[in-house]
Amino acid sequence: MNVILLGPPGSGKGTQSYKLVEKYQLSHISTGDILRSQISKKTPLGIEAKKYMDKGELVPDNLIIEMVSFTTSKLPSILLDGFPRTINQALALESEMENLNKKIDFVLYFEVPFEDLIQRLSQRISCKTCSKTFSKSDKEFVCLEECTNQELYQREDDKPEAITKRMETYKELTQPLLEFYENKGLLKKINANTSIQEVSIKIDKILQ
Ligand code: AMP
Repeated sequence: MNVILLGPPGSGKGTQSYKLVEKYQLSHISTGDILRSQISKKTPLGIEAKKYMDKGELVPDNLIIEMVSFTTSKLPSILLDGFPRTINQALALESEMENLNKKIDFVLYFEVPFEDLIQRLSQRISCKTCSKTFSKSDKEFVCLEECTNQELYQREDDKPEAITKRMETYKELTQPLLEFYENKGLLKKINANTSIQEVSIKIDKILQ
């Protein structure tokens, strides 16, 4: 099974990914996590990507497409989190899947009102080691099992100036993907403005 998680920043894609990966044995491909890891290793891709990410802009399609196709070609079942984010990326993914004789089975769209997203993102803190995210209001911060080095921080792009830009970028470049996947009969809308557990149950109903 190959699944895409689509939705604005802060809609809970990452949080649900961790559950889905375990439950359905999918390989998690989070382009944001891959890019952040490249940044911390100071690779040429990381240095280039950081210029865009800190401002809340998208990293250019050619860099992202190359990075993802290198990863997807080796994996049997994937969960794409944060990719595609533009029509060009979606077209590239489509042709990559065709070449590999695979297909996308579901595109799960996480719907959350924009006002709530801004609040969620400004409250969000992330673990530097495992990338899991928490809200500052959470009672406890429990990382992934294998994560022993819990170091929480606020991402540069979760700061107010970048959040506004990310929302604009989402509306302009990513939102058109809703129609793209709706026309292909793949889009499943999920009201993600509820608890993590409720969203998880809704997803299970679709995937099972
Ligand atoms: P995320 O962790 O998914 O919120 O992504 C953080 C940032 O990484 C985004 O704001 C973009 O700058 C960059 N990024 C992640 N995925 C993509 C993508 N598919 N295309 C372009 N830029 C991306």
